[in-house]
Amino acid sequence: MQASRNSPSTVGSKLPKKHLVAASAVAFCLIGVISLLPSKNVQAKRNIIAVELPTDSQVLTTLSSPAIDSLDKPSSASTAPIWQQTTIASGDNLSSIFKRLGLNASDVYAVANTSTEQRPLQRLRPGEHIAICLNDVGRLAQVKYTRSSLEHYLYERNENGFQGTKVVLQPDLLPTYKTAIINNSLSFDASRAGLSQGKVMEIANIFGWDIDFALDIRNGDEFSVLYDEKFLNGQKVGTGDILAATFSNQGTSYSAVRFVEQDGSINYYTPDGKPMRKAFLRAPLDFTRISSNFSLRRKHPVHKRIKAHRGVDYAAPRGTPVFAAGDGKVIASGYSKANGNYVFIQHGGKYVTKYLHLTKRLTRKGKHVSQGKAIGTVGSTGYATGPHLHYEFLVNGVHRNPRTVKLPDAKTIAKSQRKEFFAQTTPLLNQLGQHNGILLAQANLHD
Ligand SMILES: [Zn+2]
Repeated sequence: MQASRNSPSTVGSKLPKKHLVAASAVAFCLIGVISLLPSKNVQAKRNIIAVELPTDSQVLTTLSSPAIDSLDKPSSASTAPIWQQTTIASGDNLSSIFKRLGLNASDVYAVANTSTEQRPLQRLRPGEHIAICLNDVGRLAQVKYTRSSLEHYLYERNENGFQGTKVVLQPDLLPTYKTAIINNSLSFDASRAGLSQGKVMEIANIFGWDIDFALDIRNGDEFSVLYDEKFLNGQKVGTGDILAATFSNQGTSYSAVRFVEQDGSINYYTPDGKPMRKAFLRAPLDFTRISSNFSLRRKHPVHKRIKAHRGVDYAAPRGTPVFAAGDGKVIASGYSKANGNYVFIQHGGKYVTKYLHLTKRLTRKGKHVSQGKAIGTVGSTGYATGPHLHYEFLVNGVHRNPRTVKLPDAKTIAKSQRKEFFAQTTPLLNQLGQHNGILLAQANLHD
């Protein structure tokens, strides 16, 4: 992926450029926006705010000069319409939003039936924004549906109804490097290094096949990460993919690098081209929810004796989702006095995973589940004093330690893709390596 200049790219039906009706409506709305600023003539309704719109749309900014000119005549400012914006709440649809904004059912119908590629107004998500602008006779002239600072839809009235345009802005990408040594917890030290919790989860998702982030993180572990930050007109608007990362866990180092596959999907590989993704998750639950580590050799909380323990216990709050460790078929989902609510999953002919003491089971016997699917929630049913997940991993019917068992090695990237792989990944690894003071790219692995 390359950094590109800020420019809107439109898809779907395009606005007729220089269309007189649309243009005058746009100019009129801008008068309203600008006139709002000095007068503070804010129409405050519940959850509706008058806002300055849209600075990021080329369609509108190209028309701003005449609007600013007309501001010199103050008489037009007092009656000028304004943009009104509302934030989408959970349960909202276009009808409820338009009603809140004082619009009627025919407006809803006209805008909702505007043909854009994927009818985005039918898939509103809480937290997004919708803004409207009326024309000089109080009719709906424009609707702006903002999905993010980089993506919005603009609906504008023409003589046939409304026309919709999707506007996607391309941010500038700036690779950013962060590193931390863990002294407190991964979340704490990563946050102190300037990483968001989202990025911590991305790191855990990349390395979570090799490292059990719930139980195996120790003081002195360290990581480094190179990722894109996104900028629009000099303003940071978000972060992009992790490009390359290293994680050193209890003295063992792992490296991963991003590869954009031919179909555009993104996967992470070791520097020599083995996928980071494995057939099984190391820990079948969200590590950020783990409350404390259990000792592996401890008195059983119920039987008050050292019990030969055949699994791993993860203490986590009641209700924490439990994931299928790998793709498989549910061979048991039931309740017993000792296990409480339990789920067993068969993975191919060789592997079985077991999940005990669940509060709720979210699957049934015979169901096929994919890796990472929630199959239940953490609880304390059966012989358990506190909420925890008891997790077992069996290979050919024999209990193995899921945290250390050797899992089948994934295949190295196809020979036909190796050239492209190294062309993409070597610069990223070199960049991370320069920051780390180590050259990670293995030149001798090239074909
Ligand atoms: Zn246990």
